[in-house]
Amino acid sequence: MERSAKEDIQKFDIAIVGGGPAGLTLAVGLVSIMPELKVCICDKHQFKVPDDARSLALAAGVTRIFRFLGIWDEMKKNSSPISRMEITDSAPSDRSRPLFLAFDGAVGHDQPFAHMIPFRDIVAALLTKAKGNVELIDGVEAVSLDNEGSAARIGFADGSAIEAELVVAADGSRSKLRSLASIKTIINDYKQVGLVSTIAHEFEHNQTAYEHFRSAGPFASLPLKGKTSSLVWTETAQNAQDLIKLSPKEQEKHIEEAMGHCLGGVELKQPIQGFPLRLCIAREFVRPRLALMGDA
Ligand SMILES: Cc1cc2nc3c(=O)[nH]c(=O)nc-3n(C[C@H](O)[C@H](O)[C@H](O)COP(=O)(O)OP(=O)(O)OC[C@H]3O[C@@H](n4cnc5c(N)ncnc54)[C@H](O)[C@@H]3O)c2cc1C
Repeated sequence: MERSAKEDIQKFDIAIVGGGPAGLTLAVGLVSIMPELKVCICDKHQFKVPDDARSLALAAGVTRIFRFLGIWDEMKKNSSPISRMEITDSAPSDRSRPLFLAFDGAVGHDQPFAHMIPFRDIVAALLTKAKGNVELIDGVEAVSLDNEGSAARIGFADGSAIEAELVVAADGSRSKLRSLASIKTIINDYKQVGLVSTIAHEFEHNQTAYEHFRSAGPFASLPLKGKTSSLVWTETAQNAQDLIKLSPKEQEKHIEEAMGHCLGGVELKQPIQGFPLRLCIAREFVRPRLALMGDA
């Protein structure tokens, strides 16, 4: 890319491309520890709380980061701790489901080993903290990268550009910056789909996560607030398609059976959503003036 001395482009110490949970956490963390740094985050979408009904399981180590950043209390307001995990591996048709493995306990005072947090609350708390502390540049899609000079330059689809001492690619599993830097990946298409939904159920979950290992893959229910749980399980692509076509009543019956009725009768609170599953690992994580993070 040619550079003209006359160009008036914004310069940063660190430019993060991708305002998902990884990019936002890094940005907020950097300015908390080193407020003198000039940090920006660029995203092709608007910076707003996403319309995403998923909840994520955050292990205690991750929640410590958010405690340190002073946003944990806000983030966890609709969360449920996971205090116990029960794993079974019986076939759905078996009459009983003996426990294969169970563990419980906390990693410290008031620190269960994980929490279930609505994705929206994670992003909302990070965005609130980022506003005013980090330069948020949205509606810009990174399409070019020049990381060979004394500063890296990112070019956007609208013709604008910025420069930074370091560019962080936090632009997700199909990272554009990773491919612009010609970083190779190891990819394995599992030919499976991750299905997610939220259910209300008859019995208390008692802050327990249940995981049922089936031949089709794991089926997990993770506790949310009250008598509700988040479901995440894997199916072959064909089975997932067939399941999504069923009526809600038929889907609920399928879920109750897959769970061995451990939470009693269930009612779907959200339509089942499918996410194709594939492994994608970058072969390198750093290049001059470029670092990959998160799903990138
Ligand atoms: C069904 C499911 C369940 C999951 N459950 C869990 C869980 O329980 N716990 C957990 O920790 N994780 C879970 N994950 C994984 C978790 O959602 C991801 O690891 C996480 O969202 C990745 O964050 P990220 O910031 O790296 O990338 P993303 O969230 O993908 O964000 C990337 C950002 O980059 C932007 N972007 C992309 N390309 C460009 C470009 N060229 N220019 C500018 N901006 C760009 C996008 O708009 C986006 O905002 C789950 C995932 C799925 C699918």
